[in-house]
Parts: sequence; C-alpha cells; structure tokens
Amino acid sequence: MTTGTRDKKSKRIGEVRCQNCFVRFYPPQGAEQASCPECGWEWYISWSGKLAKIRKPVWESWERHLAEDKKETEE
Ligand SMILES: [Zn+2]
Repeated sequence: MTTGTRDKKSKRIGEVRCQNCFVRFYPPQGAEQASCPECGWEWYISWSGKLAKIRKPVWESWERHLAEDKKETEE
C-alpha cells in the first residue's frame, strides 16, 4: 500500500483559514486560541477530534489592533 493518497487527505486536518486575510495556517493541536502568522489576528478555535475550526475572533485582540490603528490615524 502507498501512503500517497492518505497524505493528501490528512493535509487539511487541523488547518484553519484566517477570516481576516484568508491565509491558511495550523493552530497548535488542541489550542483554544491561535493567531494568524500572516496578519496577527487572534481567533478562538474549536476542535472536533483533530479538525480545527475558527469560532470567533478574540475581541480583546481586535480592540488592541483597532486602538493602535486609531492612534496612528489621529496623529
Ligand atoms: Zn490573517
């Protein structure tokens, strides 16, 4: 038996897609929160077995980002 087809299938296990910049990344297995390596936004992750899914944004993180943006535009 070859493992070729199995590898293809298991590639996406644990993978999520950032809802801010749409980059795919792998949160640490079982992590409740993960931040996107591309844009840095943090997300709550829900797990069903080994499948990861983005649940909702971590609002404190969003507020921090927004506050930083605001500061820059105000000056
Ligand atoms: Zn992102």
